[in-house]
Amino acid sequence: MKVYLDHFAATPMRPEAMEAMQRCWRDHGANPDSIHEMGQAARQQLDNSRQEIAELLGARHPSQVVFTSGATESNNWALRFLAQQHKTIWSLPGEHSSLLRTARRVGRLQWLEHDSHLQISTTAEIDGLVAVSLVHSLNGTIQPIANINAAVHCDATAAIGRVPVQAHKLGVASLSGSAHKFGGPHSLGLLYLRNPKRWRPWMEGGRQQEGLRSGTLDTAAIVGTQVALRLALQDMKAEAPRLSQLREHLWNIVLEVFPGAWRTSPADGVAALLSVALPNIHGETAVLWLSNQGVFVSSGSACAHGRGAREMLEALGGSEQYLAGHLRFSLGPQSSPEQLVHLRESLLSLKAHFEHG
Ligand code: PMP
Repeated sequence: MKVYLDHFAATPMRPEAMEAMQRCWRDHGANPDSIHEMGQAARQQLDNSRQEIAELLGARHPSQVVFTSGATESNNWALRFLAQQHKTIWSLPGEHSSLLRTARRVGRLQWLEHDSHLQISTTAEIDGLVAVSLVHSLNGTIQPIANINAAVHCDATAAIGRVPVQAHKLGVASLSGSAHKFGGPHSLGLLYLRNPKRWRPWMEGGRQQEGLRSGTLDTAAIVGTQVALRLALQDMKAEAPRLSQLREHLWNIVLEVFPGAWRTSPADGVAALLSVALPNIHGETAVLWLSNQGVFVSSGSACAHGRGAREMLEALGGSEQYLAGHLRFSLGPQSSPEQLVHLRESLLSLKAHFEHG
């Protein structure tokens, strides 16, 4: 049995998105910038998709949504542009490295005031740019983005499809996302810009996307993103209570097997995520052990190999015995109580391995 509990690293593609992409490859293989009939058919498809994606994300106009190669690119672009007006960039420990590393490169990185679950705890005016996630991808804390009193770039990569994201209402300068986190294809990123006319080109070339980000667009990937986003949002309301029930069940299992486990995600965090730290256990060793049992989880995020997790656990006040022991379980549409039975067996074998190994 395979138990995939790593949906925050990548959410498997929705079959409907795959089918839509296959149809698109078959019917719209032309370059959407070609002026002939086939090119224009692809262009029409692409424009329709951009329009629906923009509506679903709460943008006011399709031109506010720009496609990129992923949230890494979107975060780099947003921070590199916005840092021209704001030298100090405020963020949180354990945020994605495409935010933190870029912030350190282009500005002066400072930590925001936060509570014991990394929720931003200040409403005072902040001098500088705030660059944070709507849903913290390591512990699932949901940030009160609309209450932040500053210019904000919001990384909504872990949020889209899991909590409502209405870009315009959030009042942010820009917002990033990545299709493979909500059942769309890999390597398709999104960047919402509140005022696209004020932004300068990020990539020079054929002047696609109103000249802001040149490069021939992947019509099929954009169609797949549209379908995946539509379905994820349709299912969200019913999924959230189901997943939070599963998450509590999962936490009880973790606590039964490891009574010293520390829950590092808040009860009112995103439904799909449980973040824990196990005492005197090495997270990556645990991930590999569980992988051998057919259970797939993360320690930290897939991209940072545990470094961000230690930074987060230190910021939460964790004692030394917990700092290497982060585990992130992230649930998705296929997650079920039956899978948790298998997970329990695997955690018991993990415990035995650490006690006797
Ligand atoms: N931000 C967050 C919160 C993420 O989880 C990720 C992916 N791990 C990214 C940004 C980067 O996305 P991508 O790998 O699609 O560029």
